[in-house]
Amino acid sequence: MKSLNKSLILNVIRQEKQISRAEIAKKTRLTPPTVTNIVNELLEVGLVKESTMGVSKGGRKPILLTIDEKHSYIVGVDVGGHKLRAILTDLNGNNLVHYSQELPKNLTNDFFLRVLTDAIDKVLADSHIPIDKVIGIGVGMHGIVDSEKGISIFAPNFQLEQIPIKKHIERNFSLPVIVENDARAFALGEKWFGQGLEHSTIMCVNVGVGIGAGIILDGKLYRGHNSLAGEIGHTMIDINGKLCTCGNEGCLQTVVGGDRLIERTIEKLKKGQNSILQNNKNLTGYDIHQAAIQNDPLAVEVLRETGTYLGIALTNFIHLFNPSRIIIGGGVANSGDFIMKPLIHCVKERALTIEAKSTEIVRSNLGEYGTAIGAVTLILETIFAVKDD
Ligand SMILES: [Zn+2]
Repeated sequence: MKSLNKSLILNVIRQEKQISRAEIAKKTRLTPPTVTNIVNELLEVGLVKESTMGVSKGGRKPILLTIDEKHSYIVGVDVGGHKLRAILTDLNGNNLVHYSQELPKNLTNDFFLRVLTDAIDKVLADSHIPIDKVIGIGVGMHGIVDSEKGISIFAPNFQLEQIPIKKHIERNFSLPVIVENDARAFALGEKWFGQGLEHSTIMCVNVGVGIGAGIILDGKLYRGHNSLAGEIGHTMIDINGKLCTCGNEGCLQTVVGGDRLIERTIEKLKKGQNSILQNNKNLTGYDIHQAAIQNDPLAVEVLRETGTYLGIALTNFIHLFNPSRIIIGGGVANSGDFIMKPLIHCVKERALTIEAKSTEIVRSNLGEYGTAIGAVTLILETIFAVKDD
């Protein structure tokens, strides 16, 4: 979007869902003729459509403008530590087609790129949307990502380096591709469609196999000098701790990551602690949550410890960034109050000031495909967002 005003108006229509020309002028402080001209351009290219559902204050009903969500479509992919999820959405981020699969073990760069391409092919085929209506592909990739070059610099869960995702996918589909760290994509999704809507400084923490954070400072995604910002999973909290996938010891991820949750449960079972999980050979995070629901003391204890450690990590983060809200997503967060209660309790106990103690901490409501929706938002942002740089 070249013109700042055009992007400003488009964004107001998106945020308000339905709005009249007069209201747009009021909100943007642009003159009514400027608004009319730009709206005409947007109507012409089909990004915006008219509806007459406004409420009349005497006289005829005002014509309202909305985004024409069927104007174009976007593919979003979430590449987690064990799982890949792909979706196709319209311009309003509505999930129209989705697909997920477990990722094979022993991936190589080439094999991974083939799996990724096949998944994108699958959602495109299932959607029956003609490819010329698709405007881009966003990829949220775990690990360290150079979003400018679109390269996965290091994917710790696959032990792969320098994967040229953008180049490969662009060549295959002839569409613009944006690659971003998965937690950052998730944060953008929350800011646009989820629990971050009304907030300008938020932290979104994805707690799955790994733990990553996406930080939005004053309305903008914060990447840091070398795309490293938000690697909360590799903040070290135990100098005598377990070996992490990054090579260090005692990272937060080695205490509260999804795999570690299961390991800690097994360790406690081996010590002879009583539990209904005793005879479960293929223990999953879901099993632990289910056991906790049935008041299994071991399961409740493991989740409580997880919540407390997360609470310590988040208290540190509150002291660094002072967000107005923290949003928790990812598989481990599905355990709900078993983790959230001790987490919030820990922050209340340890944060410095009354304001810091009452930092809102909520769970994501975007569901399993939240990060994929965030990946879609990477593309949406290039159309809608007002860029001042
Ligand atoms: Zn680590």
